[in-house]
Amino acid sequence: GGRLNGKVVLVTGAARGLGAAIATAAAVEGAHVMVTDLDAAGAEAVVRQLGSEGLSARATMLDVTDQDSVDAAVRATEDWHGRIDGLVNNAGLLIEADVVSLTEAQWDTVMDVNLKGAWRMTKAVVPVMLEVGSGSIVNISSLEGHFARPGHVAYAVSKAALLNLTRATAVDFGREGIRCNAICPGSVETDLLAQHFAATGDPEAAASDIIGRNRVGRLGRPEEIGATAVFFLSDEVGYLNGSYLIVDGGRGA
Ligand code: NAD
Repeated sequence: GGRLNGKVVLVTGAARGLGAAIATAAAVEGAHVMVTDLDAAGAEAVVRQLGSEGLSARATMLDVTDQDSVDAAVRATEDWHGRIDGLVNNAGLLIEADVVSLTEAQWDTVMDVNLKGAWRMTKAVVPVMLEVGSGSIVNISSLEGHFARPGHVAYAVSKAALLNLTRATAVDFGREGIRCNAICPGSVETDLLAQHFAATGDPEAAASDIIGRNRVGRLGRPEEIGATAVFFLSDEVGYLNGSYLIVDGGRGA
């Protein structure tokens, strides 16, 4: 541990799944982690677990679609340690619908959380990072930001746009010491993936199809995304800006 010693890192959607794993990995590396989620009880449970391991974490309820909630969570983080060094925009959701069946309300919901939520957080956190003159923002995009999967139109569009929000943030604030990069996970074992497998009607076939298409021969583990986030958050990779990593086991052709 120790690669993020003393850094203050805010993670969204951190009550479970990838967010909880990212929060844990950052805390193990010495960060003070603000664990935020719509699910406040879930966020508190993660913080209790980290606290029991002697790690530094706090929980705050956060809805990334609500500007007041975003401002309150950023303020709570500043009040805690007076700075924010890392932001991980991980909160996200998937709605299963194709181009024709998707409703406008569903389109808006997915964009509001997956894309606009990351922008709202970035807009609120960058001024705090500018006070210190450094910071690292990590956006959790998806392999589906590059390759759409049938029936995932809104999700695929939101994740592709998130990659260019990443590049835009990187060029807007790189000179000020703020880096912004993205992670594009393939299929990682979480509730979201289980929900997708269930929606296919044959979860086992869906899982073996995915496993058959990647070269590591299994689903990803949340802690493997946690380790990737730590890499982007760390000062060791100070020249890594506006970039992304695909973490999918080597899906190939
Ligand atoms: P998950 O559904 O297990 O967890 C998502 C978390 O986000 C939940 O705790 C939920 O309460 C929270 N959340 C939802 N809406 C929110 C809002 N408005 N404000 C704050 N929090 C909110 O999902 P996961 O698999 O852990 O996914 C995390 C991120 O990783 C998502 O952005 C997802 O798109 C992305 N991703 C996941 C996979 C995968 O295979 N699991 C692959 C690629 C990308």
